[in-house]
Amino acid sequence: MSIAVCPGSFDPVTNGHLDVFRRVAAQFGEVIITVMINKSKQGMFSVEERIELLEDAVRDLPNVRVDSWHGLLVEYARQNAATAIVKGLRGANDFDYELQMAQMNRALTGVDTFFVPADPQYGYLSSSLVKEVATFGGEVAGMLPEHVHTALQKRLAERAAR
Ligand code: ADP
Repeated sequence: MSIAVCPGSFDPVTNGHLDVFRRVAAQFGEVIITVMINKSKQGMFSVEERIELLEDAVRDLPNVRVDSWHGLLVEYARQNAATAIVKGLRGANDFDYELQMAQMNRALTGVDTFFVPADPQYGYLSSSLVKEVATFGGEVAGMLPEHVHTALQKRLAERAAR
């Protein structure tokens, strides 16, 4: 069976990510969404919280599961018998970075990376921008799954109360 890995920080998952997951799930036998742990970066949500939010978001996709990893992505792919890494591409900035990363990963273990062009309606979405807009009171409800929007509002309220 063809197994693909979709890595990212997903802090938190947005509708743009979700669109990519659906499209990848239609092309591969199994999809693993892997939250990449970056110990030097403090997220808005913990890795456990991100995993929970992701799991709720992909509950209707039977061939998709969620995991986390600290270390080299190519090693994760090897351990899980994944033959493809799949990334969403929003524009030239993503491309410049992702091309170099894809070439490095292929040089390391031979694993190939496939790119899915962002749906234009989500092309401007990034987790970091959504968090920034929401922090200053902007309306982001249509940009995130409903339960993620609720969790984000709750987290912002907790922070404001501190
Ligand atoms: P970000 O914080 O920029 O959303 P992530 O590390 O969580 O970044 O993203 C993981 C993957 O999802 C990356 O390949 C990224 O390019 C892709 N991605 C992020 N947002 C979108 C979007 N709106 N549409 C398509 N792909 C996206």
